[in-house]
Amino acid sequence: MSRIAYVNGRYVPHRDAMVHIEDRGYQYADAVYEVCEVSQGRLVDSTRHFDRLERSLNELRIRQPMSRGALMTVVLQTVARNRVRNGIVYVQVSRGVAPRDHFLPPPTLPPAVVVTARAVDKAAGERSARKGIGVITVPDNRWGRPDIKSVQLLPNTLAKQAAREAGASEAWFVDATGNVTEGGSSNAWIVTHDGRLVTRQADRSILRGVTRTGVLDLVKRRNLTIEERAFSVEEARGAAEAFITSATNPVTPVVRIDGHPVGDGTPGPVSLALRAAFHEVTEMSRPAIHGIK
Ligand code: PMP
Repeated sequence: MSRIAYVNGRYVPHRDAMVHIEDRGYQYADAVYEVCEVSQGRLVDSTRHFDRLERSLNELRIRQPMSRGALMTVVLQTVARNRVRNGIVYVQVSRGVAPRDHFLPPPTLPPAVVVTARAVDKAAGERSARKGIGVITVPDNRWGRPDIKSVQLLPNTLAKQAAREAGASEAWFVDATGNVTEGGSSNAWIVTHDGRLVTRQADRSILRGVTRTGVLDLVKRRNLTIEERAFSVEEARGAAEAFITSATNPVTPVVRIDGHPVGDGTPGPVSLALRAAFHEVTEMSRPAIHGIK
């Protein structure tokens, strides 16, 4: 089955899906995005993803491209047209197409919207979670607003590539004081030896992950102790467990940091329990394909 993408009001074959060379996203990374998990044909936590998209747009003074209801329809249509049961849906909104100029175009410019969806191999995600992954640490060289989900991801892609070349799966950014901010495409967590969960406070230094918020809900529901604070690479290396969260692979245990084992070097019980229970606390949308089982 050929893939379909939504581009500025039309559903087109994926191979023909194009944006203009003067799209501000292409020229200036002047665009924001969201990635939402699709599970059993439903969107996971779409309200939080749409809330964050609206916030990112507001922070950059990009117009909301359409109402939330209309965007929901487009997103569900894209999932349905691609027959995605388990996977992800990607939404990108750029400031629009305008002659190249650093100054912002008039606020009346219509934003450009792209939506794509694809299936993700759940079994591969499970396998990597059971084994656990390695992370490397790299200096956080990003701009000062990673709380905005902009498409300006060059430092993230280079950090993740460095991780891959070192035999790891994710890179953790480290700030000037030696504390972990977050992963190249995930939030970072540790579990202390007395069972407290620690993840960095969601200020301007990190993206407030929707999965992070969901795991916080779960942790509260289980009466586990949570500390939203910075932690150092050293503390993480000596922790009982570590894991990362993101919409593409909810809770993934980290078993090595810069080649050093975390705990006994295997996925820890707290991480695995949170992974297994994650979908208990998430909001599920109506099915993309009516009647999908
Ligand atoms: N931080 C960064 C830099 C990310 O790219 C992502 C993934 N979008 C996350 C955190 C996790 O966010 P979420 O749980 O909403 O996917």
